[in-house]
Amino acid sequence: MRSSGWGLGGLDAIALTHVHADHVAGLPGLLLTLGLSGRTAPLTIYGPAYTVEVVSALRILVPALPYEVQMKELSGGDGFAVAGLSASTFALDHRAPCLGFRFDLPRGRRFMPERALALGVPRELWGRLQDGAAVSWPGGSTDPDDVLGPPRSGLAVGYVTDTRPVDGLPDFLADVDLLICEAIYLLPGEESRAAEHDHLHLSEACQIARVARAKRLWLTHFSQAVPDASSLVDEVRAACPLAEVGRDGMTTSLRWPDA
Ligand SMILES: [Zn+2]
Repeated sequence: MRSSGWGLGGLDAIALTHVHADHVAGLPGLLLTLGLSGRTAPLTIYGPAYTVEVVSALRILVPALPYEVQMKELSGGDGFAVAGLSASTFALDHRAPCLGFRFDLPRGRRFMPERALALGVPRELWGRLQDGAAVSWPGGSTDPDDVLGPPRSGLAVGYVTDTRPVDGLPDFLADVDLLICEAIYLLPGEESRAAEHDHLHLSEACQIARVARAKRLWLTHFSQAVPDASSLVDEVRAACPLAEVGRDGMTTSLRWPDA
């Protein structure tokens, strides 16, 4: 999770969905790279049950880091704040304790300076009004409702892997701007194979995104049996027009809805 900037120095925290090897085996290398990039600020790793046990074991490979690694184990429903984001979790259904994540970036109400001027609010008090506090000064007082516009929706990203479909998951992901979701198998006829491995088929990921009203859907965590997911873009789009086939290093910029 990065709040801003580029490069690993800007990493604020790491969120683990679960502690199976395909999700944590690269952690020692990442921790080492962070150290070599000059990081000294503490780093928090959030994850489900067994995170402390597994990450502590992996730390044997990288015992001397120039920063402190903190670990916090979470249960579905727990939340935390990081980098201006409000993070929440949802218990997924996999063969190990596993968490889905939702990251919300709230957006403040628009400040209307013309109203503040009309009310005679001293400029040095404007910031407190923008922060939601009532203010008073010799000769007057006002509260935020007088100078702030209506509530505005923020931005939200969901991250779901690994799981079978779970009741309540679409509600947890409601209206996210981007849903990054696993889809281990992509082609028609492979639904039962996805279920056998406790994962989602494309059709199931698509259904979750549709019910959640996700605005975009990135697919990830393809089976080794899918030799080149990028070659299946047309098939994926035909089955689920919302879906984009994920690839390493994929990035995007999310913009405020009315920006
Ligand atoms: Zn996995």
